Amino acid sequence: MKANSKFDYIIVGGGLSGLHLSNCFSDDSFFSKYSFLIIDKEKRDKKDNYFSYWEKGTGKWDSILSNKWNKALMFSSKRKVEMDFSDYNYKTLSSLKFRDYVKKKLKKKKNFKFISDTVLNIREEKNKVIVVGNKKNYIAKHIFDSRFSNNTLKKSKSHTFLKQHFLGWVIKTNEKKFDKKSFIFMDYRVRDKNSTAFTYVLPFKKNEALIEHTYFSKDPCNKELYEDYLKKYLKRFYKNMEYKIIKSEMGIIPMTTYPFHKDSTKNITKIGTAGGWVKASTGYSFKNCEKYSIKILQNIKAKKDLKIVPDKKYFFLDKILLGVLYKYNYRGEIIFEKLIKRNSTKKILRFLDEESSLFDILKIIISMRSFYFVSVFIRNLFKKDL
Ligand SMILES: Cc1cc2nc3c(=O)[nH]c(=O)nc-3n(C[C@H](O)[C@H](O)[C@H](O)COP(=O)(O)OP(=O)(O)OC[C@H]3O[C@@H](n4cnc5c(N)ncnc54)[C@H](O)[C@@H]3O)c2cc1C
Repeated sequence: MKANSKFDYIIVGGGLSGLHLSNCFSDDSFFSKYSFLIIDKEKRDKKDNYFSYWEKGTGKWDSILSNKWNKALMFSSKRKVEMDFSDYNYKTLSSLKFRDYVKKKLKKKKNFKFISDTVLNIREEKNKVIVVGNKKNYIAKHIFDSRFSNNTLKKSKSHTFLKQHFLGWVIKTNEKKFDKKSFIFMDYRVRDKNSTAFTYVLPFKKNEALIEHTYFSKDPCNKELYEDYLKKYLKRFYKNMEYKIIKSEMGIIPMTTYPFHKDSTKNITKIGTAGGWVKASTGYSFKNCEKYSIKILQNIKAKKDLKIVPDKKYFFLDKILLGVLYKYNYRGEIIFEKLIKRNSTKKILRFLDEESSLFDILKIIISMRSFYFVSVFIRNLFKKDL
């Protein structure tokens, strides 16, 4: 290991993307001769929320899951649609468990070091990059930077931009009210009729579940409004149920077609939200962080550029789907109902994972048969802003 402040690689931010990337480096013996520094402004982040994702078969995080499901329901105001998650299980884990798991593993490795410091600036010089921290400076050949600045937020707002915003409660009940084997992917029966808004229910135990009210819309709401919808939902569908709120989580996730990869340079790779690792049309990022971290390692070995450039075809499709939700926000219920009712869950998840064949992509697009899609598609062809 080199002098204290000089490293081969520095990862700025030990959040979701920083830890996924660090974990991948630590698992690969090719990198055991390299030194890594992970800098985070928080000494010990005690915030806990739940990360959900889907994946085929077994995965890296199965030992720390809160639960996994192989079936789900989607409710629109008109119908119930069953979803089959037996090919791709839907999985949920606690962010605290994830952080503790990765940090414990990395602390055993001599070539990994954690420092708590606030990064103020990153400066490129010939053959090295200097990370300017509040406490001191750090030097490396390459930096992975997960800071999401206000400047990026401002720039991304000039592209199609929605926010996924939500409040979730983990509730505990006296009676066994939940089916542990099935979850509710989206429920549009109790919602603000002017927006894409739905409730999401993840039962962890027969008497414990995470229930979340989520919007895909332009602006977040007052906390009281989400609380109101959660209370209404529980009253209507879990009649006379007594419950205790044991945890709550609130979040805002940007959903945007801003080309984040353009913010990376030869020696500074933006990662996580700041690198465009959040899927624009869904707000999911957990699996992308794992997938893109693996890609970065492959690119280092192949001496290729390290920025993650989105696949053009899927970027265009994300633009259309996000564009439809932006322009016709109140139609979200009908759009998701059509998508889920007319396509198998497996096909939809493969599409969202950007692994569909062209034939399957076309089938999904045709299945939507929607004026809204055609209108946004034409605007995009002519590069018209929404
Ligand atoms: C309540 C909640 C629930 C969510 N649920 C899901 C889900 O179910 N599935 C899913 O895929 N995604 C989910 N998300 C979204 C997911 O958390 C984010 O997309 C993801 O965390 C982005 O990863 P990141 O590394 O870019 O940012 P973060 O995880 O926020 O990490 C950034 C890190 O950088 C550090 N940092 C920032 N600035 C500095 C600085 N100047 N100097 C040093 N360190 C700095 C921060 O302290 C932080 O630790 C959820 C988010 C929230 C808030």
